[in-house]
Amino acid sequence: MKEQGIQELIQISHYAAADIAYIQGGGGNTSVKLDEHRMAVKASGCKLSDMGETEGYVVVDYKLIKDYFNDANPDNAQFEIESAQVLKDAIVTIEGLKELRPSVEAGFHSVLKKYVIHTHSVYANILCCSAEGKGIAKKLFVDTSYLWLSYVNPGAVLTSVIAKEIQKLGKVPDVIFMENHGVIVTAQTSPVAIELHEMVNNKIKEYLNITEPFPEVSLEVINEQQVVSHSSYISDYFVGHAQSLEFIREKVLYPDQLVYLNNSVYKKDGSASNIIFKNNKVAYITSLKQARVNEETLIAYLYVLNLIEEKQLTLVSMTHEQQAFILGWESEAYRKSMLK
Ligand SMILES: [Zn+2]
Repeated sequence: MKEQGIQELIQISHYAAADIAYIQGGGGNTSVKLDEHRMAVKASGCKLSDMGETEGYVVVDYKLIKDYFNDANPDNAQFEIESAQVLKDAIVTIEGLKELRPSVEAGFHSVLKKYVIHTHSVYANILCCSAEGKGIAKKLFVDTSYLWLSYVNPGAVLTSVIAKEIQKLGKVPDVIFMENHGVIVTAQTSPVAIELHEMVNNKIKEYLNITEPFPEVSLEVINEQQVVSHSSYISDYFVGHAQSLEFIREKVLYPDQLVYLNNSVYKKDGSASNIIFKNNKVAYITSLKQARVNEETLIAYLYVLNLIEEKQLTLVSMTHEQQAFILGWESEAYRKSMLK
């Protein structure tokens, strides 16, 4: 599609995807409302870096989605199934566009402003995964219209909570922090959306005194099925910590860690781990594409853990119940399988 909104969608998507500190693997999503009905939103299983004129997004009738969530009752036993059907029915078929599924987070995009950028920014997640985060946000963002959300299951429940909070507020906030998840910014123009996202991250970096650039991914392909990490950031972590990946099961920061990390190490079918730690190095028994997703997720995860520890904050892990919801989530499995 040639229209301007799509060009802007590509622009905000590539902006977010350019920094691994903001987007790791297939995480995060963006959207642009093209008119009173149509919204172009990232497709499930696609990467923001791959967003193009004819790929990476789906067009949906966001009015249908918004109306549904504004009245929906999340306590209804059929809520998850019913809302998934609403998302599916809202897809607008566009000639020349692949038939993809909208991101499971398309729901909350529908109830926000014209431009939406949602990232799993490590800086935002230092606050969102620590007990002190809410208080720090209160200090840093007194002049910003923002919402702080306690953890709720991502997808339909999250959308419904955001829709209800907006009804209560009587306006759409510019920034939404989601505990154990990430951050959303929304604006009426794309430059303002990018500016907001930069402002939020820069304020947190400044407050925490973070001046070092985010560590780089460093991978070497050994063969088609084996990739070795040369990231010193990863190997350094194990100096002074246990020489095992066991800790990832105890410290669960957010859903993408489960989907892109824990799921590769502790497999449902009991088969061997795809991520091995040996002689101070991490190796990925998978394709380069999947190894990159694993490594980006691992670096971001260790980064948030390290910073929480260094800044003497208190880590808040996801509960077992919250984890089970993610691991049993059919849409997430689909998203992951698309990246293979
Ligand atoms: Zn997310």
